[in-house]
Amino acid sequence: MKSMLIKTAVALSLSSGFAAFAGEPIWDGNKVEMVSEKLADHVYAYYAKDARELNAKGGAAATSGGLIVGSKGALLVETMLNQRLNKQVQDLSRKLGGKPLMYAVNTSSHGDHSYGNMFMPAGTRIIQHAVTRDYIAAHLDDDKAFMIKNFGTGRGIEQIQVRSPDVLVPAGGKITIDLGGKSVDIIDFGFGQTGGDLWVWEPQSKVLWAGNPVIAAKPALPWLLDGNLVETLDTLKRVYAFLPEDARIIPGHGVAMTRNDLNWHINYLDTIRNKVQAAINQGLTLEQTVQQTTMPEFGGYALFGWVHPGLNVPAAYKDLSKK
Ligand SMILES: [Zn+2]
Repeated sequence: MKSMLIKTAVALSLSSGFAAFAGEPIWDGNKVEMVSEKLADHVYAYYAKDARELNAKGGAAATSGGLIVGSKGALLVETMLNQRLNKQVQDLSRKLGGKPLMYAVNTSSHGDHSYGNMFMPAGTRIIQHAVTRDYIAAHLDDDKAFMIKNFGTGRGIEQIQVRSPDVLVPAGGKITIDLGGKSVDIIDFGFGQTGGDLWVWEPQSKVLWAGNPVIAAKPALPWLLDGNLVETLDTLKRVYAFLPEDARIIPGHGVAMTRNDLNWHINYLDTIRNKVQAAINQGLTLEQTVQQTTMPEFGGYALFGWVHPGLNVPAAYKDLSKK
């Protein structure tokens, strides 16, 4: 199912608004510069130097991640797209933590979050969702082709090989990692974008790493690449309910946002659900539904012209039609 949807997304990307990016990577893995931000003692966010500016204007920023440091060692969130970006986050981690990287977490199977696994030190234990492990084991070649198409050749994707995880989070599960005076929860809140979505929660500083289910704050929107609108919406509502009011969220592709910022994503998916359900009740076709469900109030995102009519409305139509 996943590879079919990916092919659909690629076909759509060539035939619609996304074509503006054809031949140009969404962001350039050979140019991105990663920076760190201290969120609390021993807790850091990593994001691209231009992420704040890109987020504000609805542009597409590179992958965000972070570091949590305990007395025994540190945990890295996301291993990044290629060797170059992986080296940048390892260098930042050496400088900030001064502790061995005991663990690295992939919030999903997406290459910009997991391809760097093979460059981590041999002693680092890779943490993945069981679904992510299975997907990468079965589909890495297709996935690399998709990523090369969207991020370009010569960006270090060609050389990527599987590095199997050491710690698996089961479906619906949660594990707690003890870094020494710092414990970190790694949680599956339900289907978020890939079915293998992990959220990293540091309860002392109340920081949550979200990965791709939350791309960035408004005006960025969710990408329903693998469908499942209803489950995705339920998951975001579950995350919202879990978080204390003063929590901070490090999204998959941006700078820190608040719990309240999550309402943008929830409102967007709620609105799509209501409008597409109404269209289905009227007996409209997919094409008519896409035409009618324009939702310009959510149009500030640079990728809106592709992600909304090309991906999210069709995904909603498909998901709601089967009920
Ligand atoms: Zn991503």
